[in-house]
Amino acid sequence: MGISTDFSVAISGAGLSGLCLAQYLMRAGIDVHVYERDPGPFVRRQGYRIILDRYGLAALRESLPRPLYRLALATGDEPGGHLRFTDSRLRDAFTITFKDEPHATRQVDRLTLRSILLSGLDGRVHYGRSAVAVDDAGPAGLRLRFTDGGSVPATVVVGADGVGSALRARLMPDAEPESTPMAGVYGRSPLWRDGVSVIPDALRTSGVLALADRPGRAFFFTSMRFGENPREAFARLAPGGYAPTGDDYVMWGLLLRRDEVPAGVRGDLLALRDLAARWSTDFHPLIRRLVDTAELDSTVLNLFATGRRPRRWAVPRATMMGDAVHVMPPFGAHGGNTALRDAALLGRRLVEARAGAMSVEEAIAGYQDEMAPYAFRAVDTAAGLMRRLTGGAAAPHWVLTRLLPRLHPVTVPEA
Ligand SMILES: Cc1cc2nc3c(=O)[nH]c(=O)nc-3n(C[C@H](O)[C@H](O)[C@H](O)COP(=O)(O)OP(=O)(O)OC[C@H]3O[C@@H](n4cnc5c(N)ncnc54)[C@H](O)[C@@H]3O)c2cc1C
Repeated sequence: MGISTDFSVAISGAGLSGLCLAQYLMRAGIDVHVYERDPGPFVRRQGYRIILDRYGLAALRESLPRPLYRLALATGDEPGGHLRFTDSRLRDAFTITFKDEPHATRQVDRLTLRSILLSGLDGRVHYGRSAVAVDDAGPAGLRLRFTDGGSVPATVVVGADGVGSALRARLMPDAEPESTPMAGVYGRSPLWRDGVSVIPDALRTSGVLALADRPGRAFFFTSMRFGENPREAFARLAPGGYAPTGDDYVMWGLLLRRDEVPAGVRGDLLALRDLAARWSTDFHPLIRRLVDTAELDSTVLNLFATGRRPRRWAVPRATMMGDAVHVMPPFGAHGGNTALRDAALLGRRLVEARAGAMSVEEAIAGYQDEMAPYAFRAVDTAAGLMRRLTGGAAAPHWVLTRLLPRLHPVTVPEA
């Protein structure tokens, strides 16, 4: 389909939602450009995996050309699996089992997903462009301005620039996110050592949240096994596309109280890993080994925040998606899925507007009205889960770490 330039969309941020929307609009023949602050596509490791639920998978299915959607499934981990809640010695408290259906829940490597989302967008993603403001340029449209002094015109501007959004203050002036008392130090470690998996067979398909004896601290880990090797799968389904990685790994996160994070450790990889090592000494030896074998350049600090429901959208032909609107603590795996869901919904509305079914302003207002209820329900769910699992309420913590683990046999002996 040819691209018509009388209706153009400028997106700030080439993350999950920005790229997913760009894919949607490209397929519909809409003139779309994405402006990304990073100097290139893979400058940060973003080294973790992401669980896609039925909303995220449905959004990808609707937005991507069929071979790219198949690529996401082919390179993902096997469907199904479990999430186990245990005490610090990995004794089970309770387990959630995911549906064993290909389109229900799927664990994928985030960097591979980003490569898939970038496929076919050549010339439409512009790196080293840090958006700073949106100006109303009258009936003709808007201008998206950058820190380098440049600007671009567009009929519609979409802020998909993540939790630290530079556009939020202008577009959603009353909705700065709130910080929470919790933080996470995330890392990844190789899954295979001398041909042997570091994760025992009993936990092969499980994510594990191990709760420490004292409330407010926990350790999460899960292994990411690529289904098909990404290089081979890209060659088959997206020739010319780039697969940045293909080695199986364990992603882990030490959850701790924000006031336990010393000032100045952000960006200091050694200090972050030391922090994780120090606070994981009371956990099962398997957990300590994961921290000890971590790949240093994948260690990141994340201070958990919750988005605030916007009461006013200040610029009628501009809107926002994803973490920029509704950041949430990473409990329940809703953040990325909700961001992808936004992208497909907004894409649908903008395509309807371009076809003349409604005005651009109505299309965007319709997106915002439909997005806010599901997105802030997800924020509330994630924040509630975080409180229940890491909060100081004595009874639930005692049930999870003392009572329930006694009722189960030892899953992973402490060799
Ligand atoms: C450790 C961890 C584990 C997670 N696991 C899951 C999971 O299992 N399932 C799930 O659904 N979610 C998960 N999430 C959440 C998920 O990663 C985010 O919700 C998702 O990435 C949000 O997508 P986004 O498009 O809004 O923003 P992002 O993907 O963060 O992208 C924002 C982009 O904007 C760019 N940018 C920033 N500022 C500017 C600017 N001024 N101008 C231009 N570009 C800019 C950034 O460089 C970035 O590329 C997890 C998060 C973390 C931290």
